[in-house]
Amino acid sequence: MEILNDIPFSLDADTIMKQVHIEPDTSDADDLQTLIDLAKRVGRPKAAYTVAFIEAREGDTVRAGGTLFTSRTLARNLAAVERVFPMVATCGRELDDGFAGAGDPLQEFWLDAIKTRMLGAAHQFLHDHLHRVFRLGKTAVMRPGSGDADVWPIEQQRPLFALMGDVEAAIGVKLTASCLMIPNKTTSGVLFPVEKDFRSCEVCHRESCPSRHAPFNQSLWDEMQHD
Ligand code: SF4
Repeated sequence: MEILNDIPFSLDADTIMKQVHIEPDTSDADDLQTLIDLAKRVGRPKAAYTVAFIEAREGDTVRAGGTLFTSRTLARNLAAVERVFPMVATCGRELDDGFAGAGDPLQEFWLDAIKTRMLGAAHQFLHDHLHRVFRLGKTAVMRPGSGDADVWPIEQQRPLFALMGDVEAAIGVKLTASCLMIPNKTTSGVLFPVEKDFRSCEVCHRESCPSRHAPFNQSLWDEMQHD
């Protein structure tokens, strides 16, 4: 497993204040600034990845790096792929450890906004690193639990983490018994080369998702999820 733990990030106080609807020169603004300062001081976004080669394909399963994954959409996306990059990116645990506002919903809301930005920095750094080091062209990512529940069920986090190795020791990300990840602002998935764009939102029916990146695509859904 390769570890990226020196990831730069920026937190612009004015932008974050607007995002969380705080007026400048108020006590809330002072408290948020204190939290931003803490994040800048202790925050350590991180990422980890490995390289796995496809070893077998059968029906809705694909074996990569000695690990069996079950997902019709994943198997179809990897039909012509030889190499994949299992990966985890996280805001890091350090800010949670130093946070003194637990139990205060407002402080926790601000904390999540800051951690989301740190996760975004980790994502971008990992994406750029993989593309630069492995000279990748167009790529797509699939994440267990992203999209409709049966596209790639969240329980598939278990084989993903098993393939990666000791992710908790490497970058502090713990997989819980219910397949959630701690810290909460963490993502996992598999990056792979594609010729045609693919985004999980295209095979997700959730209508009111504020994070949607692409409209639902019925023909892609039919192609991926049906015989
Ligand atoms: S629409 Fe929302 S829930 Fe569905 S895959 Fe996209 S981001 Fe995830």
